[in-house]
Amino acid sequence: MDKVYRLSKSRLMSYLQCPKRLYLETHRPVLIEYSAATQASFEVGHTVGAVARNLFGAGHLIAPDNNLTQALAITRALLEENGNEPLYEATFQQDGVLVRADVLLRGESALDLIEVKASASLKEQHVPDCAIQAAVIEGAGYPLRKVSLAHINTDFVYEREGDYDDLLSLVEITDQVRALAPQVKGWAEQATNMLAGDVPDIQVGPHCHKPYDCPLLSFCTPQGPEYPISVLRSKKLEAALSREGYRDLREVPRARLDRHEHLKIWQAAQTGEAIVDQEGSEKIRQIPYPRYYLDFETISFAVPIWLGTSPHQALPFQFSCHIEHAPGQLTHKSYLGTGDGSPIREIAQALLDCLGKQGPILIYTTYEKGCIKTLAELCPDLASGLVVLNERMVDLHPIMKAHYYHRDMQGSWSIKKLLPTLAPDLSYSALGEIREGMGASAAFAEMLQAETTKERKQSLQRDLEAYCELDTLAMVRIVDLMQSRHTPGAR
Ligand code: SF4
Repeated sequence: MDKVYRLSKSRLMSYLQCPKRLYLETHRPVLIEYSAATQASFEVGHTVGAVARNLFGAGHLIAPDNNLTQALAITRALLEENGNEPLYEATFQQDGVLVRADVLLRGESALDLIEVKASASLKEQHVPDCAIQAAVIEGAGYPLRKVSLAHINTDFVYEREGDYDDLLSLVEITDQVRALAPQVKGWAEQATNMLAGDVPDIQVGPHCHKPYDCPLLSFCTPQGPEYPISVLRSKKLEAALSREGYRDLREVPRARLDRHEHLKIWQAAQTGEAIVDQEGSEKIRQIPYPRYYLDFETISFAVPIWLGTSPHQALPFQFSCHIEHAPGQLTHKSYLGTGDGSPIREIAQALLDCLGKQGPILIYTTYEKGCIKTLAELCPDLASGLVVLNERMVDLHPIMKAHYYHRDMQGSWSIKKLLPTLAPDLSYSALGEIREGMGASAAFAEMLQAETTKERKQSLQRDLEAYCELDTLAMVRIVDLMQSRHTPGAR
């Protein structure tokens, strides 16, 4: 007898993204590797779902213990009653596809389906997502009057404790959903047939990131050459070189490249030597003292928890600052929110105290400028002192991009790629749990949880302090090494 595959909405969405994704998720689930960002987005989805249930009012939350058979039975029983309370997580099954509806509002003869998303707007993929639900619910015998998407309203400002009345915006998509819903049965049949066969022969491509980052990317990505032509970061040139049969940059003839930055990347790949030019060294030597090396960590919430803030706003909760008073004379200052209440005002004040009135503030990319702008907006009484800080900023990123390259950077000038090539003794891999910005914000989010123990909080604090301090120490070392060397002959 043929095996029966039960498809959920998310499985069918996987199929629409890439049949191979659904195949591997079903037959080889051990290969799934969710990124920290994807895992965080699942959490955010739960939080927004809980807020939505409060906004739509008291209703029935169906089978929160995730027992699907029970959920189907409870949904059926509730829909046979003549109640009018909203249903949350109502569960339906039709033609082998199972869906759970975020919100179902009950009218006299039809239902309104509302899908809740943490995104800031309606996205293309939300229409098939709702079409699958609509086809299953209507196929099971429950007509829908309206289908809407509730997404985050980014104009919302959290003004009063517990008041999220305007957090969600509703967009009606009934017509788009009705146009797509007749295809759902065919998708389910095709997916079921595909699952019964061999793994589809599909190579990695742009579809691996659209509409979602595929959790099978590391399994599917073939082992490439050590210095692939993609490090040139030019899609057009890469396509041309690929057509000519080149995969490794070291095989490409010099005459095939004409742009200065491509030649620099090519030369570094051939020699393995870092390229530092005289002009870059000179620019950095001219930066006066005292020098302030600054880095922020931020967190954002789909559902704001601090008064005065908005959804998805990047909110600074930590900074590290190394102050170089004279060559080699360093002190370090920092701030990290305690996790009890909003850190915004304290971090703004600590920043003003740390940075004083003069001296260049060295940053890596313009992210820190945006953080200071946010702090100025949220603390109007400190704004005049904060906004002038941006006039003192010196961004090291464009300097490094123009004047330094090592082949191990693989075409990226991010500080994490750059640091090991200049100062291999300073390593992010030697840190504790937190090794990248996303990890820092997840760690702070954990510190904010009421159930996080005191010991765990202290451990996260230590790791956050070490991580952010390394970011600014990395800049100190980069500057120091750039000042003292350049590649003879490099322009
Ligand atoms: S990584 Fe790309 S090719 Fe592989 S399963 Fe995912 S979407 Fe398909």
